[in-house]
Amino acid sequence: MNPFDYRRAEDAAGAVATVAADPRAMFLGGGTNLVDHLKLGIVDPDLLVDVTRLLPDGVEPLPDGGVRIGAGMRNSDLAADPLIRRRYPVLSQALLSGASGQLRNAATTGGNLLQRTRCVYFQDVTMACNKRRPGSGCSAFGGYTRYHAILGASEHCIATHPSDMAVALSALDATVVVQGTDGERRVAMTELHRLPGDAPERDTVLRHGDLITAVELPDLPFAARSRYRKVRDRASYAFALVSVAAAVDLSDGVIREARIALGGVAHKPWRATRAEAELRGARPTEETLRAAAEAELAEARPVEGNEFKPTLARNTLVATLRDLVEEERTR
Ligand code: SF4
Repeated sequence: MNPFDYRRAEDAAGAVATVAADPRAMFLGGGTNLVDHLKLGIVDPDLLVDVTRLLPDGVEPLPDGGVRIGAGMRNSDLAADPLIRRRYPVLSQALLSGASGQLRNAATTGGNLLQRTRCVYFQDVTMACNKRRPGSGCSAFGGYTRYHAILGASEHCIATHPSDMAVALSALDATVVVQGTDGERRVAMTELHRLPGDAPERDTVLRHGDLITAVELPDLPFAARSRYRKVRDRASYAFALVSVAAAVDLSDGVIREARIALGGVAHKPWRATRAEAELRGARPTEETLRAAAEAELAEARPVEGNEFKPTLARNTLVATLRDLVEEERTR
């Protein structure tokens, strides 16, 4: 590991100014991903600016009925928060399905959003990787692709985003509050992460020096009956092969509204707008649910080694929706 300076920031504006002024400076939150990257040689900062003590770390109700989550809130605290568990269970379930108890105790909300892909070639500095070193190539093609993308990928990168929490936040239409050198701005959660295109080194739309200070959830009453389902190779401490975050507003036997996002399938949490459109106004029959899943996965493009994923994603989506519909019917 190369030597670097460490500084504890006193306020958000100062932290942003310090990092923005130094191209090799980085923010340090819980460090659960960044410290691994330091040890692996994936990043080489000259300065880490510790923001853990200055970021808000609680959940507070907003006047419009939504809630604001401080970016410094630890994942375990957020998962256990009574208001989140009651009004947005999909978020609590997503958090508890990720990492381990020890990691959740350290990882922050803001850091969770910015964690980087676990593509094995990204993490191995001896391998070609366009995300780590632009223009060097992509070792995943023809390699180990079990956890790689089937939607929205490019010839330059087929990595997936690893966060479970981000999938739930995308389904919930969250907003990310960002402090930059020009002041505060708000970014829709669905727009925060990018598809790889020809610049896979950029995971998000954030600029160097931008600091996530909070995440806001809208007032969404039917999210009180939401669900996160994750399929993985072992029962815990594993990333998603496929995951589904969903909430369905069902009344008088008709789906009024649906919010769905998929994890483990794309370079960003994949908002399932086609499935949502299929479901809106429909009766929740098995055929309808399957048609929604078919519509969403119609453009799936697996590569050698992950051909099973479109079927897995379709079936996981249908199973999640079926569970939600059953729950509504028996309420
Ligand atoms: Fe790198 Fe993306 Fe290729 Fe993985 S899939 S090796 S992250 S360019």
